This record gives sequence, structure tokens and C-alpha cells, in this order.
Amino acid sequence: MQKAALITGGSKGIGRAVALRLAEDGFAVWLNYRSDHEGARLVREDIEALGGACVLLPFDVADAAACKEALEPLLREKVPYAVVSNAGFARDGIFALMGERDWQSVLDVHLNGFYHVLSLVLPFMLRRREGRIVVMASTAGETGVGGQVNYSAAKAGLIGATRSLAVEVAKRNILVNAVAPGFIETEMTAGLPGEKIRSSIPLGRMGKPEEVAAVVAFLCSPAASYITGQVLSVNGGIFTG
Ligand code: NAP
Repeated sequence: MQKAALITGGSKGIGRAVALRLAEDGFAVWLNYRSDHEGARLVREDIEALGGACVLLPFDVADAAACKEALEPLLREKVPYAVVSNAGFARDGIFALMGERDWQSVLDVHLNGFYHVLSLVLPFMLRRREGRIVVMASTAGETGVGGQVNYSAAKAGLIGATRSLAVEVAKRNILVNAVAPGFIETEMTAGLPGEKIRSSIPLGRMGKPEEVAAVVAFLCSPAASYITGQVLSVNGGIFTG
């Protein structure tokens, strides 16, 4: 039977590239996003052009009830083999001036989004005794980045959650890893000063969403069967741990 992969935040950027790559690898795609219906429709079209299948699931991962309403009926029919927890955004600004809304919304989308989606899917995965979970972290969760205290807190939290969940579910053959991208060319980074950023990256360029998707696809593949609880950095050498 064809395996399914649930990708959150798949209407554009890294999530879009992950969806296309996993479809190429033979997964049926469950594509979550929040508001970009046209972007999501185009992703579905691209997947169908590859001969793949894609279900669109517009809901806000920060909204527990919306996650439940969208996912529960699907989970009664099928259990995804892979979940890529990717939906997110940044609200940058210096901490001394950060309003509660910018603090809370970033924690809500990343940390609560992880909880809302995975707490629904995981019980089904545990019964199936197999699965892969890939969490989209960030260099900002691995090291200090001024202007991103909220985002760093969320991404570092996700790295901790990844490592602990990996320990909890390993016996059921569910592998949980994080991918930590550096600067990747997407809408999220479109407003940043390109030249200054490129000069700070040892490889001298920003990454492409497809370069992150390749690592996610590897972690969802049989080749990654002995990797769990890890953080794989995809950052052009900007941070080496
Ligand atoms: P992007 O191009 O802005 O795409 C973000 C995606 O997340 C969109 O599909 C968006 O949906 C979705 N999304 C946002 N909030 C959501 C919510 N509450 N519920 C459901 N979906 C939501 O961003 P990206 O650069 O691809 O980033 C994807 C992930 O990679 C994020 O977790 C980000 O933190 C991480 N990351 C990015 C970089 C980078 O340099 N780009 C680096 C490190 C980590 P709609 O547009 O339809 O609302």
C-alpha cells in the first residue's frame, strides 16, 4: 500500500519542496497550510503532474480544534508513515522591545503546532509500529541569533522535543529527527540583506528549499533506518556545532 506523508506548512518554501520530493519518492501527500490557497493548489497540481496524489488540508497548526477537525477523519481511514512538522514563521525584533503577541505567536506556531499535530497522529503511528517524524528546526535553535529570541526559543524547544520524543518512541520503530536549515531562499528570508548574509556563509550562498528537502527525504527513507534523535544541519557551514 502507498505510504502517506503529512507535511505542515506546504504551500510554499521548504514545505513545498519537501512535498514535491516526497511525492517523487512515492508518498501520497497530505499537504497542510494556513492561508495561501493558490500556492497550495499549485503544489497539488505539480504533484499530480508527477503522477502523485495530494490532499489539501488548510488549517492553522496553532489552533488545536482546527487540527482535530481536519486530521481526525483522515486518521480513521489511514495513518501517515511520515510527518514533517514544518509550518512556521518568524517575528523578529529585539527582545527588550518585543511585544507579547510576537513572543506568543512564534511559540504557538512552532511549539504548540508540533504538539497539536503530533499528539493527534502519534497514537495511530504507535499502533502501526512504524513511522518517521521530521521536525523543521533552525540554526537559530542551535546557536544565538540577535533579534530572534522568540524564534530561537521555539526552535531550541523543538530540538529538545525531538530528542526526547525519539527516546520515547524508538521501541515502536518510530524515528524522530530534526533538520536545522541556515539561510534558505524562501519568502521568509526575502527581505533580508542578501549580500551581507552571503558573505557570512562559508559556502558563499543561501541554500535552496530543495537542498533541505533532500535531507528530509533521506530521513524518511529506508536508508535512514538507524538514525533517530539527531539534528541534521543544512546551513552552508554557517554554524558547525
Ligand atoms: P515560508 O516560505 O514563509 O512558508 C511557510 C509555510 O508555513 C507556508 O506554507 C505557510 O502557510 C505555513 N504556515 C505558517 N503559519 C502556519 C500556521 N499557523 N498553520 C499552518 N501553516 C502555517 O517559510 P519557509 O522559509 O519555507 O519556512 C518553513 C519552515 O522552515 C519554518 O518552520 C521555518 O521556521 C523553517 N526555517 C526556514 C529557514 C529559512 O531560511 N527560510 C531557515 C531555518 C528554518 P500559508 O502561507 O498558506 O499561510
